[in-house]
Amino acid sequence: MRDDILDRVVGMDTSLLTALGDKTARPLARQLELHTVGDLLRHYPRRYIEHATVTHTSDREDSRFRPGEHVTLLGTVEKVTGRRMRHRKGHIVEATVAVGAQRFTCTFFNQPYRERDLGAGTTALFSGDLSRYKGGWQLAAPEFSVLGPGVSAQLPGLIPVYPATRKLRSWAIMMAVRQVLDVFDDPGDPLPEVLRASHGLMSLGDALHRVHLPDTREEQVAARRRLVWDEAFGLQLAMAGRRASATTRPAAACPRRDDGLAAAFDARLPFALTDSQRAVGESLADALAGTEPLNRLLQGDVGSGKTVVALRAMLQVVDAGRQAVLLAPTEVLAAQHARSLQAMLGPLGRAGELGADPDGRATRVTLLTGSLGAKARREALLDAQSGSAGIVVGTHAVIQQGVAFADLGLVVVDEQHRFGVHQRDELRSRPGPTTPHVLVMTATPIPRTVALTLYGDLDTSALDELPAGRQPIATTAVPARIRPRWLERAWERVHEEVAAGHQVYVVCPRIGEEGGDEGAEPAEPLPDHLAGDLLDPEAPPEEDDDEAADPTERPPLAVGEVAPQLAEGPLSGLRLEMLHGRMPADEKDAVMRAFGEGRVDVLVATTVIEVGVDVPNATMMIILDADRFGVSQLHQLRGRVGRGAAASSCLFVTDAAEGSPALTRLERLAATPDGFEVSRLDLEVRDEGDVLGAQQSGRQSGLHMLSVLKHEELVAEARDEARTVLADDPSLARHPGLAALVRSVVGDERADFLERL
Ligand code: ADP
Ligand code: MG
Repeated sequence: MRDDILDRVVGMDTSLLTALGDKTARPLARQLELHTVGDLLRHYPRRYIEHATVTHTSDREDSRFRPGEHVTLLGTVEKVTGRRMRHRKGHIVEATVAVGAQRFTCTFFNQPYRERDLGAGTTALFSGDLSRYKGGWQLAAPEFSVLGPGVSAQLPGLIPVYPATRKLRSWAIMMAVRQVLDVFDDPGDPLPEVLRASHGLMSLGDALHRVHLPDTREEQVAARRRLVWDEAFGLQLAMAGRRASATTRPAAACPRRDDGLAAAFDARLPFALTDSQRAVGESLADALAGTEPLNRLLQGDVGSGKTVVALRAMLQVVDAGRQAVLLAPTEVLAAQHARSLQAMLGPLGRAGELGADPDGRATRVTLLTGSLGAKARREALLDAQSGSAGIVVGTHAVIQQGVAFADLGLVVVDEQHRFGVHQRDELRSRPGPTTPHVLVMTATPIPRTVALTLYGDLDTSALDELPAGRQPIATTAVPARIRPRWLERAWERVHEEVAAGHQVYVVCPRIGEEGGDEGAEPAEPLPDHLAGDLLDPEAPPEEDDDEAADPTERPPLAVGEVAPQLAEGPLSGLRLEMLHGRMPADEKDAVMRAFGEGRVDVLVATTVIEVGVDVPNATMMIILDADRFGVSQLHQLRGRVGRGAAASSCLFVTDAAEGSPALTRLERLAATPDGFEVSRLDLEVRDEGDVLGAQQSGRQSGLHMLSVLKHEELVAEARDEARTVLADDPSLARHPGLAALVRSVVGDERADFLERL
C-alpha cells in the first residue's frame, strides 16, 4: 500500500485508509472520527513531555528524591489492585510501577476504571508529586499517558500527548502521525508570503510537521503560533466578510428631529441619563441618520439602563416614519418589555387612544407573541403591516416567521446571548431595497477577544456605569447544611422586607409539579459564547457505571414543591405566587402583572425571570440550590433586585459542603459585584479552551487551538489583516487559498458570504 501511494500526492484531503492502510486507519475513524490526513494532522497534541525530564531508571538514587517533588516517570506497571476502602467511603486503585530497579505506588481514589487502564505490563508516563508511603514512594492521582509495551527506545525529544481514548492511545496516534508525515507532500500555503513575513510565521507545511514532532520547545511554540494564526485569520475573514455583506444593501436613513417623539420623550424622562447612556445615544443617533446599516452590539451590565437607550433609538426611527421592532428571548420578557415601553412612553405611546399626547405626537406599541389568540394576533399583524404600530415587541420566534412590516427601520435584539450569528444574518436579509439597522443588547459582558471573534460582524458600545443612587446588592452565600440557622433567618428577613413594603423573589432550578418533568426546564443554557464543553478532555470517555452520581444526591428543588411548602411554612401569611415557563401565557402574564403592581409579595419562580424582568420594588432574592446554576446566570438573576433606591440583598442558598469548589465559587461570586469580573470568573471556572469550540459547533469547526483568553492580541492582529485583505479583494477571488482557509475554519455554510458578494 505505502509503495503505490508514494507515487501520488498525499495532501490534507487524502483518506487515511489510503495513507495508512486499513488496520491503522480504522481505529482512528472509529474512536476519534479522523478520516483524512487533514483530520489527523489537525488532531494536535494537547501537551508535550520533555524527554530529558523523564526519570527512566534508577539513574537517580532513592535518597535523591524528595517528598513534594514533581516528577515524570517512564515506567511499567507490575501489579494493579482495586478495592473498596474499609474505613472511609470510597474506592482505591493502587498500581505498582517499576522504573528500573525503583518501585513507585500510584494511587487513584474513586476511579475504579484505572484498574483496567493500567493493567500489568502497561508502559506509561506518570507525572505527579512524590510523597512517602509505607516506606516507599507514592504518586497520588498522577496524570499519566499510556504508551504501550516496550516503546521507550522510540521516544523523541518532546513527546506529544494527544487527546486519546482508552481504545486508542496517545502513543498509537503519535505513530500514525509519524507515518503520515513521512509521505505527506507540502500542502502549499494559503497565507500570502508578505503576510507571513510581516507576522513572522513559519510555512504551513513546517508548522504541521513541527507541531507533532518538535525537537525543541521553541519550535513547538512557533508551530502553534502559525496554526493558531490560521484559525484566527480564517474566522476574522469570515466575520469581516459578514460585516461587508451586511452593508452591501443600504439602510433607510432616519435623521434626527427636534420636534418629534424622541425629543418629547427626552423632555418627560423622570431621571437624568447617565453619561454613558448619553454618549452611546449620540453615537446611535448619528449612525441611524445615515444609510450605512447600523450593526451594533451594546453591552451593559444588568441594570445599566439599556432599555432607555434602545427606546430612544427606536423613537428616532419612528420619527422618520418607519418602524422599530424589539425582540426578546421569551414571552414573559416580551410582555414585560411591551409594558415597560408603554409605561415609559405614557401619552406618547397611545396613538389613537384616549389620553394620547395632545400635540398629536404619539405612536403605538404592539405585542406580538405566539400565545396571542387568533383575533389579537390578526390585529397585531395588521398593526405591523399597516404601520400603525411604530414599535412592535415580540419573541424571536414569532418575528422570524416572516411578519410583514410597513417599513422596518430598526431591529433591536435584547439579550444577545440567545441569538446567534445566523439569526442576525436572517434579520438583515429581509426582502426589500433596504436592510434594517440592527442593535443587539447583552448584559453578559464579553471579553474583547470573544467579542471580536463571535460578534466580529458588529461594532460594540458599552454602558459602563450604573445610574446614580443604585444600591449595591448585598450578596451572601448561605451554606444551608452547615448553617441551617442562616436559612431560618433568611425567611424571617423575607417577612421584614414585606412588612417594609417590598417584594421578594425565590428562585428554584426546576419546575416540578405534574411529575416526570425532571429537567423539563433545564436551567437556562449558558450564554452560547460561554457554554463550553465542561467535560475535562483528559477524563476518560464514556465511563460506564463507574462514575455514577452519588445515590444520596437529591433532585434539584422545584417551584411546584417549594412554593406550597413555603406558603404553609416559613412564609405563611404572605401573598405568594408561582411563575415558570410551562404556565399558560395569560397566567404568566397575570402573575407578572400582579407582581409588578405590588399585589404579590413573594414570587417563587424558575429562571424565567432571569433576564429583563424589572420590578424596582423587589429588594430581596433567595436562590435555592444556587450551586445548580452557572456563574453568569446567577449574576443575571441577582440583577433582578437592586433596581430601585432601596437597599437590596441576594442569598445563594446551597447544600454544598464547607470548602467544596461549589461553595467557594458561590462565595467568590457573592464577593464580586462587577459584571466584567464575573465573566472572567466564569471563564476561569470552566475550561476556557472550548468556549469558541462550542459556539462554532464543536467537531465540525476548524477551530482547534484558538483560545479567546490567551490569544487576544493575535486575534486583533488577524482582524486588522482580514479587513485589509477584504477591502482589496472582497470575495477573495484572487486569494483562493484564503477562501479555502475560511471554509476550513468556519465550514461551508458560514462561508456563504463569499458567494453572496
Ligand atoms: P438593563 O440594562 O438591565 O436592561 P433597564 O433598562 O431595565 O436595565 O433599566 C433598569 C432600571 O433603571 C429601569 O427601571 C430603568 O427605568 C432605570 N433607569 C434607566 N436609566 C436610568 C437613569 N439614567 N437613572 C435612573 N434610573 C434609570
Ligand atoms: Mg434589559
